[in-house]
Amino acid sequence: MAGTRFVDEVRLRDPGGQRVQLTVIGAEPHTAYNRVLLSSVLAGSLGLDAVRLHDSKWAERNRVDLRLGRPVGEVCVEAQQVRLAGGERLDYDVLVLATGAIPWFPPVSGLCTGDGSLADGAVAFRSLEDCRWILARAQRGEPVVVLGGGVLGLEAAGALAGRGNPVTVVHPMGHLMERVLDPSAGQVLAEQLESLGVRVLLNAEATAYRPGRLELATGGPLDAGLLVVATGVRPDTRLARTAGLGVRAGILVDDQLRTSDERIHAIGDCVEHPLATSGLVDPAFDQAGVLADLVTGTDPGARYRGTRTVVRLKARGIELTALGESRLDPNTRDAEVICLRDPSRGRYAKVVLRDNRVTGALMLGFPDAAATITGLHDSGAPAPSDRLALLLGRALPAEPTVLDPAELPANTLVCRCNSVTKAHLQRAFRERLDLPERAGVAGLVASTNATTGCGGCRNLVGEIAHWLAATDGSGVRGIQQHRERNGSLLR
Ligand SMILES: Cc1cc2nc3c(=O)[nH]c(=O)nc-3n(C[C@H](O)[C@H](O)[C@H](O)COP(=O)(O)OP(=O)(O)OC[C@H]3O[C@@H](n4cnc5c(N)ncnc54)[C@H](O)[C@@H]3O)c2cc1C
Repeated sequence: MAGTRFVDEVRLRDPGGQRVQLTVIGAEPHTAYNRVLLSSVLAGSLGLDAVRLHDSKWAERNRVDLRLGRPVGEVCVEAQQVRLAGGERLDYDVLVLATGAIPWFPPVSGLCTGDGSLADGAVAFRSLEDCRWILARAQRGEPVVVLGGGVLGLEAAGALAGRGNPVTVVHPMGHLMERVLDPSAGQVLAEQLESLGVRVLLNAEATAYRPGRLELATGGPLDAGLLVVATGVRPDTRLARTAGLGVRAGILVDDQLRTSDERIHAIGDCVEHPLATSGLVDPAFDQAGVLADLVTGTDPGARYRGTRTVVRLKARGIELTALGESRLDPNTRDAEVICLRDPSRGRYAKVVLRDNRVTGALMLGFPDAAATITGLHDSGAPAPSDRLALLLGRALPAEPTVLDPAELPANTLVCRCNSVTKAHLQRAFRERLDLPERAGVAGLVASTNATTGCGGCRNLVGEIAHWLAATDGSGVRGIQQHRERNGSLLR
């Protein structure tokens, strides 16, 4: 996804290709797709075709020499060449590594074959092919075990339970999603999942696998007609390592996304940068934009300065958003922490503030508040003084406007699943000026795919569509009427 976004960003700055000639080499056989939406495909809310990012004419339209299904086997730094599978060599002036991440498998006896791939009946959840395979294998009623209670494991579990499979999640830690949730939130989440038919085993260690059966250190064995292994990913550094580039956990890059060889850059899940969180798409897209500025010469001063990330669980019947210092102990004296626990209704909310700004939050079962609080976190705007109302998604009318579409910065990420910003929606509106449904949400959705992931941005896209219609896309006329009609989105 980082590589594709980089190409799109380059062509925005250099549409005719006068400054940059582009060759894209992909190991996967198909054109780019939105990996983030694979959970929705598994859940059945999107078809496989809906995740495609490009049509078959994209490469031609964008003057891209596209080579699919041909992994790069070697980077020859001295010769400034890459060698493709099959032996062909290509010269480069600038090389961008966007090799992503590869699933990591725990040392469970029988889980992996001699070549490191998974044994029969077990599958990772990373690619379109994995998704296809799971859908084919998980016939209704087939018992499924998901190894790993992180975001991906739980999204797979929720999706398959929704399809009628008995699902058990096996998680080695004391609570779910321990990297972003505190223990209380983890407990409420586990109860929520159980109520949706997902069995959750915590502190559970898988010891041995053979097709159809997973052994645990205590309890078990479990029937596993299908075993989904979602135990984490590691940056794919294989090419970089063999090329002799600087690598620790990921490929080391500086603020210009340069590796230890200044002609080679790296972006996305494969990199290690002090301010980047790996495994999330927003940092990858920010890096792609910075690198496009540099490579096209549009902004030689562009630098990557980190990304405010948000983690959302895309699972049927569960609304979970975590951002910033979400795990902070509610009893800390360092920061202002407001917490609300309502386990019988499957709800938990925590907001962390420093100097009156949101620096972290955990929102389980509070979708309205989650949208507002995410907006406050992204914009760095001051929080309303009535903290409880904020937590409940009911900040008072007297509070200042925070998410007025007119005042949102153009680069505000509106649809995180499809990485659609306010500027993308404005552009889509302008491009559809002659079409009958130009002013409506449907038109914007058709052009950008916004709202088609988890759907959490539906209200905001609606507000922006109204605002664009009221201002005829200029963002100037009618703003006052819009405010009078809608007031603040906080309300
Ligand atoms: C099911 C699922 C749901 C997700 N949900 C979210 C979410 O809600 N929010 C979020 O922020 N993130 C989410 N992610 C993570 C997100 O998809 C990644 O952060 C994002 O894809 C990173 O982009 P990337 O380009 O760095 O890596 P990738 O998208 O993995 O792309 C890397 C590409 O490089 C190719 N490649 C590797 N080696 C070579 C080679 N030698 N030659 C040629 N090609 C090569 C790979 O085949 C792959 O196609 C999700 C991931 C999955 C799997």
